[in-house]
Amino acid sequence: MTKYDVVVIGAGPGGYVAAIRCAQLGLKTACVENWISDDGNPVLGGTCLNVGCIPSKALLDSSHHYHHIKHEAAEHGINISGATMDVNKMISRKAKIVKTLTQGINGLFKKNQVEWLKGKARLIDAHQIEITPSHDTHDEASVVETAHIVIATGSVPTRIPSAQCDGKLIVDSTGALKFNEVPKRLGIIGAGVIGLELGSVWNRLGSKVTVLEALPNFLSAVDKQIATEAEKALVQQGLDIHLGARVTGTGGNNHEVTVNFEDENGKQQMVFDKLIVAVGRSPNTFGLGAKEAGLEMDERGFIVINDKCQTSYENVYAIGDVVRGPMLAHKASEEGVAVAERIAGKSGHMNYDTIPWVIYTWPEIAWVGKTEEQLKSEGIEYNVGAFPFIASGRARAMAETNGLVKILSDKQSDRILGMHIFGPNASELITEGVVTMEFDGSAEDLARTIHAHPTLSEAIHEAALGVDGRTIHI
Ligand code: FAD
Ligand code: NAD
Repeated sequence: MTKYDVVVIGAGPGGYVAAIRCAQLGLKTACVENWISDDGNPVLGGTCLNVGCIPSKALLDSSHHYHHIKHEAAEHGINISGATMDVNKMISRKAKIVKTLTQGINGLFKKNQVEWLKGKARLIDAHQIEITPSHDTHDEASVVETAHIVIATGSVPTRIPSAQCDGKLIVDSTGALKFNEVPKRLGIIGAGVIGLELGSVWNRLGSKVTVLEALPNFLSAVDKQIATEAEKALVQQGLDIHLGARVTGTGGNNHEVTVNFEDENGKQQMVFDKLIVAVGRSPNTFGLGAKEAGLEMDERGFIVINDKCQTSYENVYAIGDVVRGPMLAHKASEEGVAVAERIAGKSGHMNYDTIPWVIYTWPEIAWVGKTEEQLKSEGIEYNVGAFPFIASGRARAMAETNGLVKILSDKQSDRILGMHIFGPNASELITEGVVTMEFDGSAEDLARTIHAHPTLSEAIHEAALGVDGRTIHI
């Protein structure tokens, strides 16, 4: 029987990063992965690379270019008529990007001598794993032995009985990444991250998009001022957002879906050409044998871990979407690195207070740390500095003046407690807040930092000055 120092289960951004870091640290490492791509080949990369972060951003970028050419280029004096979208080309471009990146992980495994065990893993106990080969081989199941296990089996789309996916008219996020034509009427259940990102893609390409959200508030985890600005902008872009809408059932025929829902106006019905169900994701432990092997699970199906990511067994770790915390690729990867270092006898660093969030609408929504509402509810006294992009020279030059930067700092110490951005390239700008918070920096630290002119980041500088009432340009 082959013996390893570490066997990682799952090769998403949590698992593949953990495996590479373990190997870098001199541990004999294998990674079990059973994902089969649409063309029938085993692939690495997990949700993020195959059907998540990367393909969705590829479509967001393609649709952004198209929308810009159609609706915004003229403002710059660029006159283009007759621009059309070749949806199949956009989808095959996305597939090519995914293939390049997933093969890249393959290369990284080879370079770092991580052994890829192709197949489905089932825990036998805290040291033994059974691996059933992927469906395209006729190999027998085998058992490997290991000193440590890292579970990184990720998550799957949450299902709801009132709208069951058929893969044709009613789809989850994976199906919504491969429509071969622009649906005329697109319904989306859930105004969360996926609903808004994929809704933006198809709205830009011409779909009439309706979003049905059960909660009464828009993006309730986001700072309220930012969420309000974002909702306004998305509605202006054409998204028809219904809040407080409870979907009670779906029906229809081979060509269209009927959705029944109830909101403050009573019972309603809408008809769509496609319906995306985007109501969250659930931890994936299907067939893993976690419970049978003695691992504690919580009531929602997450594997229970301590602050070092250890499960009920100290040599069995779990990371990423299958454990508590935000379901984000960078959170999974950082936990992977931290766990690898702990296994190798180092301390392993993971700061849950500085995990950035980005929603890739346009303008983008990005934040780190606490919202104003959280600070109020926790009774923490704070100062606020804000700066709108309309007053930024660079944003004007780019014709991207929508949105603002908002900084929240501790009233006593001035330490930054949160940064919230709705605006162009917010996904890149937020890193300034993350780094400052990682170093326990203050608004004054940012205010005294020279920012290049003209840049969008000057809006952060101005917001930091604003914490102390010293904003120059408003
Ligand atoms: P996963 O990426 O889910 O990987 C788990 C892997 O484990 C899979 O490959 C699976 O096949 C494998 N596996 C499971 N069980 C077994 C088993 N028993 N044996 C062998 N292998 C097994 N996050 C961001 O940070 N930014 C984004 O922009 C972003 N966009 C997203 C867009 C979409 C449409 C979706 C769906 C998600 C997006 N996410 C984004 C979330 C991100 O994809 C996840 O947080 C991330 O992939 C979690 O990583 P993970 O390694 O924990 O799990
Ligand atoms: P989400 O939790 O962001 O949003 C789901 C939404 O659906 C919520 O607003 C919820 O109130 C609503 N909802 C739940 N049940 C409903 C029902 N029956 N009817 C109507 N609305 C309902 O989940 P998601 O958008 O599916 O995304 C899943 C996760 O994937 C995210 O939480 C995030 O962690 C990750 N993700 C991240 C990114 C990114 O980082 N840019 C992008 C996509 C996905």
